[in-house]
Amino acid sequence: LTKIDEYHQFISINKNYEVLDDGFVRLDNSMGGDLSVVNHARISLDVQKEKIDESDKKLIRYLMKQGHGSVYESIWFSFHIRAPIFVARQWMRHRIAGYNEISGRYVEMKDKFYTPKDEFVRTQIGKRGDYQFEEIADRADRETIDYIYKIHYDNSVKAYQHLMELGVAKELARIVLPLALYTEFFFDVNARSLMNFLMQRNHPHAQAEMREYAKVLENIFAEIAPITYNAFIENGRVAP
Ligand SMILES: Cc1cc2nc3c(=O)[nH]c(=O)nc-3n(C[C@H](O)[C@H](O)[C@H](O)COP(=O)(O)OP(=O)(O)OC[C@H]3O[C@@H](n4cnc5c(N)ncnc54)[C@H](O)[C@@H]3O)c2cc1C
Repeated sequence: LTKIDEYHQFISINKNYEVLDDGFVRLDNSMGGDLSVVNHARISLDVQKEKIDESDKKLIRYLMKQGHGSVYESIWFSFHIRAPIFVARQWMRHRIAGYNEISGRYVEMKDKFYTPKDEFVRTQIGKRGDYQFEEIADRADRETIDYIYKIHYDNSVKAYQHLMELGVAKELARIVLPLALYTEFFFDVNARSLMNFLMQRNHPHAQAEMREYAKVLENIFAEIAPITYNAFIENGRVAP
């Protein structure tokens, strides 16, 4: 492992990673890596490196453990995401990031909705705030559930189109569409904030659909900055 560009030859920039039934994660662009972390740290002693050695790996681990988080801001990602609105809504609570999203005021929304499949069709057991989720095992129930989603989505699309035929503006007609509707956005985030995101969202307490996206982001992060990623894991997945 030497220069940043040599990392990038392994990375699948512009590759679509499918998530859920119609979503994706695509790394649009990235900057920096383990070497940029080392150089951001070493500038304090007026030292810059071209190659990572064992002492740099130790430094990355040390900084992670000590919570010296600013050096990890030197790694940056621009992700293009397609996710249901209920996932996007949770996602955009993460404020230390940049976002740009498709506009339902300017563009007619596509009739693509998320329908949970198999193990994702779940029931909740236990107390509020401490739920356990279990798959709904009964096949007949699952078919009925699937039908209820489908009929509701079909009706909402009909209502949306009917309102626009009656001259209602797109920005008002869209309000009949459900949270399952897919949206698209850019998520521009540095590695420090991404670790905070992964700590919370690739976690058993996160909603399963949200976690599916977080898993893909985590794999891409591990690919771009493997030493930093391993330090995050060794640190118990606690973001610095
Ligand atoms: C399982 C789960 C359940 C949740 N349930 C709910 C819920 O029921 N209701 C709800 O409203 N939210 C809920 N959230 C959202 C949660 O409260 C956070 O808003 C969200 O996860 C973003 O986290 P964050 O603030 O750490 O991230 P970011 O906004 O990206 O911030 C990153 C870090 O920057 C710092 N920071 C950012 N903004 C400030 C600031 N203004 N002041 C000081 N420091 C700042 C903090 O250190 C923060 O951790 C839930 C989240 C999870 C993971």
